[in-house]
Amino acid sequence: MPRDTSTGPVGTVAERVVALNARYRHHGATAVLERALTDPDLGKVALVSSFGAESVVLLHLVSVIAPETPVLFVDTRMLFQETLDYQRELAEKLALCDIRTIRAHPKRVEFEDPDGTLNEFNTDACCNIRKVEPLERALKEFDGWITGRKRYQGSTRQDVDFFEAEGETRIKVNPLAHWGREDLEDYIVNNRLPRHPLVAKGYPSIGCAPCTSPVKPGEDPRAGRWRGQSKTECGIHFINGKAVRGPVGDASNNEENAA
Ligand code: SF4
Repeated sequence: MPRDTSTGPVGTVAERVVALNARYRHHGATAVLERALTDPDLGKVALVSSFGAESVVLLHLVSVIAPETPVLFVDTRMLFQETLDYQRELAEKLALCDIRTIRAHPKRVEFEDPDGTLNEFNTDACCNIRKVEPLERALKEFDGWITGRKRYQGSTRQDVDFFEAEGETRIKVNPLAHWGREDLEDYIVNNRLPRHPLVAKGYPSIGCAPCTSPVKPGEDPRAGRWRGQSKTECGIHFINGKAVRGPVGDASNNEENAA
C-alpha cells in the first residue's frame, strides 16, 4: 500500500519513537518493514546502503516489501571497483527502482582534498567531506532512514531498538536489530543472493579502498577498517540536524549501519 506522505508525522521524534517501538515490539524484521513503512508516525523514509558485505539482506527485503523506497548510496569516489560493480549488479537483480547516488560536491573536494590524500593524514575530515556532509544533505527531505544496525555488532549497540531517535530531526529504523550473523548468512543462502566479491577475499566489512584491509581468521570483523587507528566509525550521525563526528553512545553510526 503506498504511503501517504502528504502530511508529515505528528509529535516529537522522541514521542514517535516510543510509540513505534511499543507498537512493533513483538514484530520481526519483515513485519517492521512491511507495516512501519506505511505508518504515519514514521513519515517519509529512505534506505541508506553502502552495498557492502551484508547490505544485500536489507536491499532484498526492501525490494520485496516496498521497492519504491528510495535507496541512498554514498559514493565517496574512494570505493573499491568491486563495490561499484556489485552496486550495479544488485540494482539490476533486485530491480531497485529509485537508487540515488550521493557524492560530495566536486568543488568542496577540490578545495579540501585536491590531491586525494586527505585520508592519509586526517580520516575524520575526509569522511566528513565525502560521507557525512553529502548524506546529511540527502537526508534533509526524509523523516527517517533505514539502517543495518544490529545488537550483535558491539557494546554500543546492545540496546539497539527497531526505532531510534536521531536528535529532533529523524528516526532511524533498524529492522535487523535482533538478527545475528548466522541469520544474515541463512537469509543470503536461502534467497540465493549474490555476495560482495570481496567477502570471499577476507573482507567481512567493506568501506573505502584506502581505509579497508582484509582480516585474518579470529580477528574482529571490523579490524580491517582504518587499521592501526583508533577510529572505528565514519561519523555519519546527526544530533539536532547537525552532523556529529565519531561514535556517541548507541547513537553512533557508520556506513555499515547503512544497510
Ligand atoms: S573511509 Fe577513508 S577514504 Fe573513505 S571517506 Fe573516510 S577517510 Fe576518506
